[in-house]
Amino acid sequence: MRILVTGGAGFIGSHLVRLLLGPDPESRPTAVTVLDALTYAGDLTRLDAVAGDPRYDFVYGDVRDRPLVEELVGGHDAVVHLAAETHVDRSIGGAGEFVSSNVLGTQVLLDAVLRHGRTLVHVSTDEVYGSIAEGSWTEDCPPAPRSPYAAAKASSDLLALAYHHTHGLDVRVTRCSNNYGPYQHPEKLIPRFSTLLLDGGRVPLYGDGRNVRDWLHVEDHCRALLRVLLAGRAGRVYNIGGGAELTNLRLTRLLLDAFGAGPERIERVPDRKGHDLRYSVDSGRIRRELGWRPRHSFAEGLAATVDWYRDNRAWWERHLAERDPAAAPQPSSRTGSPSR
Ligand code: NAD
Repeated sequence: MRILVTGGAGFIGSHLVRLLLGPDPESRPTAVTVLDALTYAGDLTRLDAVAGDPRYDFVYGDVRDRPLVEELVGGHDAVVHLAAETHVDRSIGGAGEFVSSNVLGTQVLLDAVLRHGRTLVHVSTDEVYGSIAEGSWTEDCPPAPRSPYAAAKASSDLLALAYHHTHGLDVRVTRCSNNYGPYQHPEKLIPRFSTLLLDGGRVPLYGDGRNVRDWLHVEDHCRALLRVLLAGRAGRVYNIGGGAELTNLRLTRLLLDAFGAGPERIERVPDRKGHDLRYSVDSGRIRRELGWRPRHSFAEGLAATVDWYRDNRAWWERHLAERDPAAAPQPSSRTGSPSR
């Protein structure tokens, strides 16, 4: 199978590419091509481990580039679509690029997949469902997104399903909870707090810290995507969750413990605008139908992730310097708030 991975230089996409080209007996692709625009979030060093693999190819380009996407999709059997703007706080600051990249980009891709009769795994998010006070969302719950990021993801998710219903396109949609693991951009919550703690700084906790998120190790998400690619059904939505629901305050305390830091290192900051209180997905379908289950426990996965940020300072310092060059020489002066 020849697989095109959009956004493959991003956090999750790069883990997926390494899984596809790794020793997993389920995965035997003849070619894996990454299409990525290398925005601030893209980083080819995440793919160093596969750079010498003759099955791997990298194409620098945008999913909105119709002729390029047409040509690439035609040369592959299946597409896993991860390319997107992904930072909730940035979408609150300005939604234009989110609508353009996430919605228009997906539509361009869908047209190409339709013309060539290929398979598409569309990587969506649990955030499309909105916020839930009790219980968990099944795949039948209607999307009710509340942030511009989630609304743009819901739009692309629904567009993908509409191409299945209208044209019979083989589209499979996944809706996953919060990912964590190595190589995540330091603007996201776990790496941001870890790197601040490593630099002796304080961690900015939104509001009262009662917001609940479910956490899944990125490798478990990628194994789920592989199961959906190999055995999923056309037109089907698959929730993916780790079953590790934590308030942001509880997660912050776990991170403080991991770094031997006390509660005085928490800095309370005003809550995010429109902050969703709780996300919770029921991932029974993918467990029952595709035999997937997470392999990492949250405790073990978090400890290994914290170690990775401790051991890979040069990697995340480079991303912080790109984000805010003036702040780079004084890392402990960093301010701002995390996302997801
Ligand atoms: P990321 O921000 O780390 O990576 C996104 C990648 O897409 C980057 O490499 C970027 O360069 C590329 N990209 C952005 N716009 C592009 C465009 N127009 N054309 C080509 N490439 C473009 O994101 P991530 O955390 O790896 O998330 C990947 C996907 O998974 C996204 O679609 C996201 O919505 C979804 N998702 C993420 C999570 C999570 O917790 N991170 C959870 C569920 C779903």
